[in-house]
Amino acid sequence: MKMYTIPKEVESFIEKAEFGHFINNRYGGNMAKRYLEIINPANEDSLAKVPVAGSDEVDAAVSAARDAFKSPDWHDMSPDSREDLLHRLATLIEEKHETIAAILTLENGKLYAQAKSEVMSAARTFRFYAGWCTKMEGDLIDISLKQPQKKKNFTFLKREAVGVVVAIVPWNFPISIASWKLAPALAAGCTVVLKPSEVCPLSSIYMARLFEEAGFPRGVFNLVVGDGETGALLTTHKNVDKITFTGSTAVGKIIGKSAMENLTAVSLELGGKSPVIVFEDADLKLAAKSVAMGIFRNGGQVCVAGSRAYIQESIFESFLDMLKQEAESMNISDGFDPDADLGPLVSEAHLSRVCDYVEKADNKLRLKTGGHKQEGSGFYMQPTIFTAEDNNSVLASEEVFGPVLLAIPFSDMNHALSMANDSEYGLSSAVWTKDISKALECVHTLDAGWVFVNSIPRSDPNFPIGGNKLSGLGRELGKEGLYAYTKLKSVNIAY
Ligand code: NAD
Repeated sequence: MKMYTIPKEVESFIEKAEFGHFINNRYGGNMAKRYLEIINPANEDSLAKVPVAGSDEVDAAVSAARDAFKSPDWHDMSPDSREDLLHRLATLIEEKHETIAAILTLENGKLYAQAKSEVMSAARTFRFYAGWCTKMEGDLIDISLKQPQKKKNFTFLKREAVGVVVAIVPWNFPISIASWKLAPALAAGCTVVLKPSEVCPLSSIYMARLFEEAGFPRGVFNLVVGDGETGALLTTHKNVDKITFTGSTAVGKIIGKSAMENLTAVSLELGGKSPVIVFEDADLKLAAKSVAMGIFRNGGQVCVAGSRAYIQESIFESFLDMLKQEAESMNISDGFDPDADLGPLVSEAHLSRVCDYVEKADNKLRLKTGGHKQEGSGFYMQPTIFTAEDNNSVLASEEVFGPVLLAIPFSDMNHALSMANDSEYGLSSAVWTKDISKALECVHTLDAGWVFVNSIPRSDPNFPIGGNKLSGLGRELGKEGLYAYTKLKSVNIAY
């Protein structure tokens, strides 16, 4: 097996003992009470031990962010200086993208080529929001209030930075999802405490130094490492102004409740069970490739993975054969193998969760292909396709977050749409047809934050994302994603 060469810098970073938190532009955390082991999912080797932040470290990070928010070095920084900092950070990320991507592949298992494009997309997100620093606007409005002594009115709305932001991210796209939060928050003038996932924190720990190198004043960007306990300390902290969370719906609900306890602003990007509708008139070759890619890329560990495929009856069997062919032609291998199409799943626990769904699949379902983990070391799982007659199964309703597709036939558009919308989730959706009327009807009727027609879900900094129903609250990216880190001040001046 040919392998990419891992940059030398990666080894020396991973060998260092003092992995950990980054507070006030300094690494620390080698005196922790508890450590977590980070495992390479491709071969089960132990990569590193990272400290878990307790209340002392969480308090220190939040106070550093609060002090920095009030400090003139950051608070009074001109918008164009903030813009320069974000561009410098983007340049540093671009320069180091191979190193960061290699760390990401080691800790997460994703394909190195995809890790590199994830890191480069984070750099693009920082550049996109760098441009917004100098373009913040308010509104001048007319109101009807009578002022005392017949004075006149001057009334305007001003957008201000929301304050100290806690950003909690999952393990599936740790670098790009962090950038969707950090870039708009910093562009708006906020300060941040980031908590990466306990499964894949190393790439974020490495990246922390780039904020200092770019010139961000101390305390503007902070990072604490830890698991759900650390996350809970952050999200229940009284000195935080905004929580932005991406992760499971179960944890999102807990965070939503605790945010309300302190009336802290909150955005939640949660799970999904996204439908894909394939009509008989679609470009079926392209649709089959895309539906397979939509569920199998990144091992199906994608919040917007198209995990329910509704396929028109007339093409059901032939389209399934095409999907089966796509699944069976995938090369399952280490993420550093340039010929790999599918790397390992992120952890042993996650692999066994996915296998559990497959093994306990309702006996009404028919296994078309896959269904097994790969023997030997590493957490590899075959791309798997089941078929069913209807939506009445656990696989149709619960998020598996693995390379597992459920295909269901439909008779007509209304049938497809009613099954597609019959879900607690409402994150993403896709439609394959050449008929513009059908496409638009689906766009209007699908209850989802994203709808893709004849393409698969992908992100762009100017394209807001987010979910309906149990898939979340609020939107990220685009102008919406920037405004999520601002609060409105309404000002009335009598003159
Ligand atoms: P998770 O909810 O288990 O963990 C996410 C983060 O929350 C981690 O950093 C974790 O340490 C932290 N956390 C756990 N318990 C906490 C608590 N009680 N308080 C505060 N923080 C806590 O999710 P995961 O397994 O890391 O990621 C997979 C999930 O993320 C899937 O459900 C997926 O759909 C979702 N996701 C959603 C999007 C989106 O944009 N909607 C994107 C990616 C992933």
